[in-house]
Amino acid sequence: MMNPVLRIGAVITFLWALMPASIHAENQSLPDTGHSLKEETTKIKKHRMKKLEERVTVDETTLKEHCRFISEIAAVPPAGEVVLTFDDGPEPGQTELILALLKKYQIPATFFMIGQKAEAYPELVRQVTDTGNTLIASHSWSHPNFHDIPVSEQQEEINKGLATVSKDNEYKLFRYPYGNSSCESNQLLKSLEYRIVGWHVDSCDWAFDHHGEVDAKEALSCGVLARNRKDYKEHVLSSIRAHNGGIILMHEIHPNTLKQLDGIIARLLNEGYRFKNLNDPVFQKALQ
Ligand SMILES: [Zn+2]
Repeated sequence: MMNPVLRIGAVITFLWALMPASIHAENQSLPDTGHSLKEETTKIKKHRMKKLEERVTVDETTLKEHCRFISEIAAVPPAGEVVLTFDDGPEPGQTELILALLKKYQIPATFFMIGQKAEAYPELVRQVTDTGNTLIASHSWSHPNFHDIPVSEQQEEINKGLATVSKDNEYKLFRYPYGNSSCESNQLLKSLEYRIVGWHVDSCDWAFDHHGEVDAKEALSCGVLARNRKDYKEHVLSSIRAHNGGIILMHEIHPNTLKQLDGIIARLLNEGYRFKNLNDPVFQKALQ
């Protein structure tokens, strides 16, 4: 008879083999950086609801005075021009797939990296640098919500993130985790000559589940049309058409983006959209 410990081991191995690939990927990133797909998705949903609540309960002047949401871009995007941006990487097994698609279509993109993960996966950072037309930018050191931490910690997050990811970059770009800013951090970034990058189109890849569906509450918060609630690709495309281009926010860690990116790029090219990057003069007005 099999030793009970070995038997449990065999059962775990069997169950593991039955799990979808996305679950494997999710757990692989845990020991190194703690930014698993599940954790990050839960956090995005929570911070998104808090933001919506703040938007309806606090008046616009107070929000502006406290520089809460600098990531919201007021300027209209240049017509027919798009910029792909990928947040929360680098992510083993996924960064490579995105780079392969950029090469396939010969298009540019910007990667907003978490400092901790860039430090854990230097080879992936090098691969992004070596791919032409790509920019690497900072997305803080450990991806906290800046609205939940004191100013000293916010500044530490910025300084450490920039030192890891973008110290040698010609283009100095920063994106706040969850898009949540403060006046003090904005000031620090400006003094370091960094531009703050928001987005025109939130793909909401985090809101769609692993079947590619979004529930009614998230659909409302993301502006997903009823006909697109089971179609992530169509949701992204119709949001881009509604803006006639713009800076598109996606996440390296979300399987919906990975699964649909090829089709999204192909359709946008087919519809005549031109892919630019954040250093292009036409997008400077969209940066803070
Ligand atoms: Zn992020």
